[in-house]
Amino acid sequence: MVYSSNKYNLMLSPETLKEEAKKVALINKQFFEKLKRKKPRNLDNAFHDLHEEAFEKMDCLTCANCCKTTSPIFYERDIERLAKALKLRPSEFIAKYLHIDEDKDYVLNVAPCPFLGSENYCTVYDARPTACREYPHTNRKRMVQILDLTLKNTEVCPAVFWIVEELKKI
Ligand code: SF4
Ligand code: SF4
Repeated sequence: MVYSSNKYNLMLSPETLKEEAKKVALINKQFFEKLKRKKPRNLDNAFHDLHEEAFEKMDCLTCANCCKTTSPIFYERDIERLAKALKLRPSEFIAKYLHIDEDKDYVLNVAPCPFLGSENYCTVYDARPTACREYPHTNRKRMVQILDLTLKNTEVCPAVFWIVEELKKI
């Protein structure tokens, strides 16, 4: 499949995205390993420009694949904020929604996220975890440090997939 620069091609179905991302996973891994070794000075700028371009056209409300398929990490302050918003004690919030994963982080028990509402709206938007606010992390500083995460996110987020495809052309 040829990935055009046409931003409308961002809208891949979750199944197609996963399939296409797996096809280029090895190439992307090698590309990222090269970036890690060379640490290009303009890498953050290149990511950030493509991030802006992708999200000018991408409407997350028509996608919500991140909320449907993966869990954010819940830090202590996220748990406190969400528990307060839902009028629960933090311990009740944890018992109801979370477990500790293999990396010893609190994550959701189920996917899709139980807070994903109708028409893909987040029902706890103002209190949502920091990880949700920052997802898909392609406008972060020092992108070279989170290339492994970015590689994983090519299978989840069509915008990340597109950004990486465009980055390889530069
Ligand atoms: S951040 Fe990515 S995966 Fe999540 S809704 Fe937006 S485009 Fe979809
Ligand atoms: S808390 Fe909201 S933004 Fe975060 S995964 Fe759940 S529905 Fe999505």
